[in-house]
Amino acid sequence: MRILVLDTTLRDGEQTPGVSLTVEQKVMIAETLDSLGVDIIEAGTAISSRGDFEAIKQISERGLKAEICSFARIKKEDIDSAADANADSIFMVAPSSDYHIHAKFPRKEKEYVIEKSIEAIEYARERGLIVEFGAEDASRADFEFVISLLKAGEESKAERLTFADTVGVLTPEKTEEIIKRLKKEIKKPVAIHCHDDFGLATVNTVYAVKSGADEFHATINGIGERAGNAALEEIAMVLEFLYGIKLNINKEKLYQASKLVEKFTRVVVPPNKPIVGENAFTHESGIHTSALLKDSRTYEPISPEVIGRKRVLVLGKHAGRASVEAILKELGYSANQQQMDEILLRIKELGDRGKRVTDADVKTIVETVLQIKSEKKVKLEDFAIVTGKNTTPMASVRLKIDGEEKIETAIGVGPVDAAINAIRRAVKSYADIKLVSYHVEAITGGTDALVDVVIQLKRGNRVVTARGARADIVMASVEAFLEGLNMLI
Ligand code: MN
Repeated sequence: MRILVLDTTLRDGEQTPGVSLTVEQKVMIAETLDSLGVDIIEAGTAISSRGDFEAIKQISERGLKAEICSFARIKKEDIDSAADANADSIFMVAPSSDYHIHAKFPRKEKEYVIEKSIEAIEYARERGLIVEFGAEDASRADFEFVISLLKAGEESKAERLTFADTVGVLTPEKTEEIIKRLKKEIKKPVAIHCHDDFGLATVNTVYAVKSGADEFHATINGIGERAGNAALEEIAMVLEFLYGIKLNINKEKLYQASKLVEKFTRVVVPPNKPIVGENAFTHESGIHTSALLKDSRTYEPISPEVIGRKRVLVLGKHAGRASVEAILKELGYSANQQQMDEILLRIKELGDRGKRVTDADVKTIVETVLQIKSEKKVKLEDFAIVTGKNTTPMASVRLKIDGEEKIETAIGVGPVDAAINAIRRAVKSYADIKLVSYHVEAITGGTDALVDVVIQLKRGNRVVTARGARADIVMASVEAFLEGLNMLI
């Protein structure tokens, strides 16, 4: 039996604190989800805002393979809104725990919730909507009531019935018990909706599927309210690789989907997140790398290519000869034994100082070592900067180029820009240098943070990467620029 996947990145995911997506972004994410192969895209809550309504409408017009769904409460206006937005279906929830019933329908009893639900489902069907009916906060509700509620939903011809662990308090054992019972009571497909408040969303969802659930809800990167929802990429990979349950998901698109959602929501994926985290297929240790290069299965449970990623080898204080050789090859360099030793030594030194060793560093180290005898042509003798609220930033530099002194002054939009302009002007007669990219990152958290500036410079067809790390952002930039300059001139 095929397991249905309802992706709620655009609804529960968008309810992540601080996240708000534009209609265009929602359409792009929906297209990606469709190509990923999810069966149902919960695209928003039509009644909640003009933007959500518009997004559901536009996504519905795209003619995607997936069923387009709107979230709804058991209210006529919610159903009308979803139908007017041309949604194929609604995921409609009724409160099931006492907390929810009392907060949403004061002074009403459980029977009232069942009555209202039946009315709403019937009305939604009249309006041509497929209904997935869910019990909200079911994990804290009286289970017998949840069963009656979902059975009433089934009798009113809801197509799918959902058990929502709204505040993420299920355990795998409880989930198994619940799903097995629901499967006995209900003939229509049963779905599970999990949250990650205790870090159990993935395992609970997996247990639900393993115990007979026909459908699960999830979001890309596990984004969602509070600690988030169950992460689609984790569930898909666990089910297939650890339990042998295949989904209809195009796994090689998982990483791309993760990156798109990260970019649009600005919810950064932690580096150690399973499957999609930056470090999930990154190796630094020399011992690991050397084994990996012989057989990648030694330190990888699955190949990164499976989910559309690439293995990354980084050099740091744990670097070994094998990883240096691999990276040298990638850069197109060759080094003799003595040079290799020197490169390795310098990389480890940098790593030992607590620095992240970037490709730019490796390249710089390698180039420095390979041209170990060439003296620096450009030296910074003096440097000054003026900036302020009503002052155009202005920098002056005194450089020694091939022993000859050069003094230049330049203005800029900011102090860094002014400094770079001044240096550029000073070396103009020697070389035409273009700044290709400039990237700055604070390594620690305060205003006294060490900032790491990585720049790319271009002269003719040659591009070099260089870095400067200082507590002073202007000096870090100048250092990086001069380092690059010395490689180019
Ligand atoms: Mn939810």
